[in-house]
Amino acid sequence: MGEEIELILDDYRAAGRILAEVREEAVEKVKEGNSVLEVAEFVENSIREKGAEPAFPCNISRNEEAEHATPSIDDETVFGKDIVKLDIGTHINGYIGDSAVTVDLSGNNEGLVKASEAALNEAIKIIRDGVSTIEIGEVIENTIRERGYKPIVNLTGHGLMRYNSHAPPVVPNVKYEHGIILRESNVIAVEPFATDAQGAGKVVEHGNAEIYSLIRAKPVRMIEAKKLLKEIKKYQGLPFAKRWLPRERLDIALRTLKNGGILRDYPVLREEGEGLVSQAEHTIIVTVDGCEVTTKRIV
Ligand code: MN
Ligand code: MN
Repeated sequence: MGEEIELILDDYRAAGRILAEVREEAVEKVKEGNSVLEVAEFVENSIREKGAEPAFPCNISRNEEAEHATPSIDDETVFGKDIVKLDIGTHINGYIGDSAVTVDLSGNNEGLVKASEAALNEAIKIIRDGVSTIEIGEVIENTIRERGYKPIVNLTGHGLMRYNSHAPPVVPNVKYEHGIILRESNVIAVEPFATDAQGAGKVVEHGNAEIYSLIRAKPVRMIEAKKLLKEIKKYQGLPFAKRWLPRERLDIALRTLKNGGILRDYPVLREEGEGLVSQAEHTIIVTVDGCEVTTKRIV
């Protein structure tokens, strides 16, 4: 492998290592009665203290929410007996770590949590240079179904590229007809989602967005929108939280940029049948004879 690629992979590894440390510390804070906003801020601040940057706002999705939930600036929500998905992103020089874990505060959904974890582990076992994303989707689907749960068909893993947290290829959670062959040094995030018997196995958008990203900058007239656009350019196209932004006339400035096709928003994705949802995710570098998980805790 070229020296340049090795340097890039080292940034992926460093981002992954920081993520794993922060994730482990954050899981300890996911307790009934604790503030959801405090956990999100703890995650984002810890990432910065350890020398990386958040690649996206800390997602804390609960129960039938699958992803894209993050607290608002004055959010007073506390954890109840929830199934909590903590999805964390870090980056160093734009090279991203993306990992999620499910914490079961209900105490009676261990099987659901284990279903997505097992699916991720089985996928990791088969990933190597030459594997097809079809095979990965198949092993994830089979592992979840064997345990009596349903995979969520319209949520997928993805490639990771510099300052791009959702690059090709799609890494499906069910057996697709078409796929691509993974090659050495490809960096991907694998993220099985499982739901229970009540679930439809599909998510739909639900509620307001707290997460946005820049599509492309264009000239804007409104002064607040102009200022806001300048502010968000620093995220280099990566998703950011509304609560990270200056508050002055924020709603109208955000709406102006969104309506102008400059920003996209990420509404919460919720299980269509109101089933409970679990998620497990790691970032993975494909190697000649296997793979390297960058976001695994090294002990
Ligand atoms: Mn993620
Ligand atoms: Mn991801």
